Amino acid sequence: MKLKILGSGSIFSKDNSASCLIDNKILIDVPNGTCKTLKRIEIEPSNISNILITHFHGDHYFDIPFVLLNKISNSNESINIYCDTSGKNKIYNLTKLAFPNKVDKINQYFKYNTNGKFNIGNYTIKKVKLDHEEGIEANGYIFIQKDTKIGFTGDTGICQGVKIMAEECNYLICDCNSLKGKKSHIGVDDIIGIAKEYQNCTFYTTHMQTGVREKILSLNIKNLIPLYDYDEFLI
Ligand SMILES: [Zn+2]
Repeated sequence: MKLKILGSGSIFSKDNSASCLIDNKILIDVPNGTCKTLKRIEIEPSNISNILITHFHGDHYFDIPFVLLNKISNSNESINIYCDTSGKNKIYNLTKLAFPNKVDKINQYFKYNTNGKFNIGNYTIKKVKLDHEEGIEANGYIFIQKDTKIGFTGDTGICQGVKIMAEECNYLICDCNSLKGKKSHIGVDDIIGIAKEYQNCTFYTTHMQTGVREKILSLNIKNLIPLYDYDEFLI
């Protein structure tokens, strides 16, 4: 897997909003600014073939209309969107607001999948239910690639789903929003505990507010590593 971090910040930080790009064509979340970020690293948004949405807060999907517009302008292929059952209407309505005259054409290009387990290329992907905010369905995704498992939490507090992901995954791209954890987000105080408990997993923190990265670096914990925008890994 070629993993590129498009964004490692929260909406309040100067870093890009949290998002990952896999193999130059699979997006995990499409926050504000994604389309321009892709262009900056010389990836055409029309190359995107699959989008996985962790949950429907604006800083995780508001750039979808721009990715879809690029897709219909430069490609004949459709785009697969994996999300919860509310996603189809939300994406349709957002796209209609952005481009009322093009929404029906755009709508023909995207296909929805709300399954708990699915395949993209050589990856088997498993959806894991997480706890974020009241009334918001939040899902993490585990990519299984032979014997290696790479997880992406999206936004979440500490919950059973996070523990399942930490137990199963070799690498976990994990929400660590603030210094102090709360119900909706993991904090540095929480992640110290789970990094210690699940030593076989390397935790890469994302969705960080200002000051969180520096705090994590100061702790010097071997399996706890804060991400930066544009980090790239081969796993
Ligand atoms: Zn959120």
